[in-house]
Amino acid sequence: MATTGQEIVIVGGGLVGALNACFLAQRGFKVSLYEMRADIRTQLHVKGRSINLALSRRGREALKMVGLEDMVVENGIPMHARMIHDLDGTRRPIPYGEKHQYIMSVDRKHLNEVLLNAAEQKGIKLLFEHKLIRCDFDRGMVIFERADESQVTVSCDLIIGCDGAFSAVRNQMMKRTRLDYQQEYIPHGYVELTIHPKQNQFAMEVNYLHIWPRNEFMMIALPNQDKTYTTTLFMPFKNFESLKTKDDIIEFFQKYFPDSIPLLEEENIKETMSSTPAQPLISIKCHPYHVGTKGLIMGDAAHAMVPFYGQGMNAGFEDCIVLDELMDEYKNDFTKVLPAYTEKRHVDATAICELAMYNYIEMRSSVNSKLFLLRKKLDNFLQKLFPKSWIPLYTMVSFTRTRYHQCIERRKTQDKIIRCLSYSIIPLVVGVTVIVTKRNEIGQYISDIPLNISQLKISLDRFIHRFL
Ligand code: FAD
Repeated sequence: MATTGQEIVIVGGGLVGALNACFLAQRGFKVSLYEMRADIRTQLHVKGRSINLALSRRGREALKMVGLEDMVVENGIPMHARMIHDLDGTRRPIPYGEKHQYIMSVDRKHLNEVLLNAAEQKGIKLLFEHKLIRCDFDRGMVIFERADESQVTVSCDLIIGCDGAFSAVRNQMMKRTRLDYQQEYIPHGYVELTIHPKQNQFAMEVNYLHIWPRNEFMMIALPNQDKTYTTTLFMPFKNFESLKTKDDIIEFFQKYFPDSIPLLEEENIKETMSSTPAQPLISIKCHPYHVGTKGLIMGDAAHAMVPFYGQGMNAGFEDCIVLDELMDEYKNDFTKVLPAYTEKRHVDATAICELAMYNYIEMRSSVNSKLFLLRKKLDNFLQKLFPKSWIPLYTMVSFTRTRYHQCIERRKTQDKIIRCLSYSIIPLVVGVTVIVTKRNEIGQYISDIPLNISQLKISLDRFIHRFL
């Protein structure tokens, strides 16, 4: 494999950039990582997005491949179920899957630090306060601006943009190639609040992702190692804007989240909500992810999504696995790897962007519906009955590495089967009624039919498996 001497520049030392650097260094490439911010390992607080994140199977798998899974998981908190907070204060858990299936709440800063330390240990050159200004994908030249406004030009064999949703590398690619680009700001924004520990203990049940679903908006809370909860209120901007005074804010919480007030504390709610502007949420799709043989974008730079499936980082981490597998398949030949990466990853990244959008409705509204709960029960029942073939959508996305687009396809097939089953229920009920009422007359005809239930179940499982 031709890696000796090949140099890769990664732009962006966030979660995906730092992990990707570890993967590529492991393959023997000479990797340099350029980050526009100062080194977060030297900062007390880092401005920016959510304080904690839900890590699931895809992300864990990627961390495992660079030997970091245990270190990250040790510092995370398992969340086995959603804990729904109803308006009247009732709390009801909805498990994510089976007992061994859970997502982990991990601290974003800690995770980024672990990744940067690992990158450094693998001999990767880390350059902070270097902001990408321009790149030339034909010659493999990258120009960065340093904190003192001086510029530095670097040459390399491959430029990988892991520089987030507002990617400068992607902007440069758009000037060089016919890159389709689509972005959407949803009408909702978010504000983060903190629930502090009570008597040095977690203020609520710990191993849950707490949700206050209120149809048009919702609040969620994820536990942290220091026994706090990061609580996020997602709501349309127009609703945030209607809360003009501190009294408006507290009235709003009394109306929609009364049980959260003693947890968040009135003063904390008023101060945070009145001093923190709601942050926007963006979804980005683009195509292709590469230009020529020297430019590639990954992570949020290629597919930023709304955070409602907890998959943005997980998908970005899985990007690193996909690139690694293609490097294997095409023996590190960038001329083949890059187009193959776009071809393979685009369909899946688009699928998870769409699923993330759909899950917002599920989280804030569907969990309140009896039909949704019935469907969850039916899914769980069918999974127990046909464990190989009937895997619920959330389980496929969060606890397997089934390709995202296949998760959608399989869910559609499951929906069809359930529709067919429900259409057959009416004739079935009529049929059973007829049998019960006329059992004496037809009894003599059915007494000879042998019914082997376990054989029937096996045949059905095989049959469904063929189609899912
Ligand atoms: P980023 O994390 O944005 O990192 C990009 C890096 O590039 C930054 O360090 C930036 O400083 C640097 N950079 C930018 N421009 C330049 C430049 N010109 N030159 C040099 N460097 C540059 N995902 C999950 O999987 N689970 C969750 O529970 C989850 N929760 C979320 C909650 C919220 C509220 C939000 C907004 C997102 C959430 N996500 C979650 C998504 C997740 O945060 C992102 O998918 C993830 O951070 C993407 O990582 P990245 O490295 O691609 O981009």
